[in-house]
Amino acid sequence: MVDGKWEDIKPFETRLWLSSPTMHGEELKYITEAYEANWMSTLGANIDEAENEAQALLGIPYAVALSSGTAALHMAVKLAGVKPGDHVFCSDMTFGATVNPVVYEGGVPVFIDTEPDTWNMDPEALRQAFALYPETRVIVVAHLYGVPCKMDEIRAIADAHGAVIIEDAAESLGATYKGKQTGNFGDYSCISFNGNKIITGSTGGMLLTKSAEDAEKVRKWSTQSRERAPWYQHEELGYNYRMSNVVAGVVRGQLPHLEEHRLQKKAVYERYKEGFADLPVRMNPYDAETSEPNFWLSCLLIDEEGMCRQVRSETEAMYQPEHGKSCPTEILETLAGYNAEGRPIWKPMHMQPIYRMHPFVTAEGNGRARTNAYIPGGCVDVGMDIFRRGLCLPSDNKMTPAQQDVVIEMVKRCFA
Ligand SMILES: *Cc1c(COP(=O)(O)O)cnc(C)c1O
Repeated sequence: MVDGKWEDIKPFETRLWLSSPTMHGEELKYITEAYEANWMSTLGANIDEAENEAQALLGIPYAVALSSGTAALHMAVKLAGVKPGDHVFCSDMTFGATVNPVVYEGGVPVFIDTEPDTWNMDPEALRQAFALYPETRVIVVAHLYGVPCKMDEIRAIADAHGAVIIEDAAESLGATYKGKQTGNFGDYSCISFNGNKIITGSTGGMLLTKSAEDAEKVRKWSTQSRERAPWYQHEELGYNYRMSNVVAGVVRGQLPHLEEHRLQKKAVYERYKEGFADLPVRMNPYDAETSEPNFWLSCLLIDEEGMCRQVRSETEAMYQPEHGKSCPTEILETLAGYNAEGRPIWKPMHMQPIYRMHPFVTAEGNGRARTNAYIPGGCVDVGMDIFRRGLCLPSDNKMTPAQQDVVIEMVKRCFA
């Protein structure tokens, strides 16, 4: 940018987003219906219909619309019966919302390292974790960036230990594993309609379950746990977690467009893949045999040989430019300089100050006690390594091919 060779690239006039809402018009119709009927609370046709449509789309009998994906995860942790002090095996390289609800209930997340094939929970590390903490009965697993995890392997291990699975499908709505929508694989599953997800309600989420009884419990808990009585009668702790009928109107307008967004995002992913063919990088991987991701975010992983020097403190990053090499910090700073939004990979939970003292298990056994999981570049586990060498690229489904070509050119120049 400073050395002149970049002069032919102009910053984007309107910001190029990582992933921004894409509205279609029907949302406004359903919001207006709610307004005109004065169903402006957490009851109404939009909520009922959004739940019905989500059930049909995912092929799961019960959906409960909630205020956020995080609220859905919290309800799932309660359904799973997590009690204070219980260990819960959790995906490590994920958004904090995957694991925080475990702590809301007093559970103790034990982080499970990531595998390189899908960037999700490593079944081998999970097996090691059961050897270390055999009493554990709950697993929270996320499908990162919309790429399904190795679900069959994880399910087999869970079943062998009598453990239940909370499936965090917040990022993977529309992705399939062995022909089935993600959300079908947990004992309790959660989706999100947060503003940057593949479809959005502006906010919101749902809990999905095959159990009518569990769905009823969540409906009750999420509306302050009122008992059947003429007054406010409470036997259980309650929450204000229900989705608003206005938000549900947006969700209703968006659900029919999920597959369209997915295909647009897939095209973005494919275009990056092609554009970067000659660079020392690879795209976030998936197993095409078992999975069709939703391609929510397109991510890059720089080969070790392609990495220039980069150091990160807790809150800052620096790098040393080098010909033929680059690093996430250089690429992200370059993108930001041209009004395009990228993002580092989710910083693994075991590296977060809040969770640093929690147990963390790698495929080699306990990552804290053993150093044989060492990976070149000073990393001691897979998640840390992907965090160091990876980044999320602008993945907005409204990005034009011409805009994306500029992003590809910028990344290429970082490596020049
Ligand atoms: C977005 C997200 C959530 C939380 O969803 P909200 O609706 O924002 O509360 C949970 N887990 C993962 C992996 C997410 O990306």
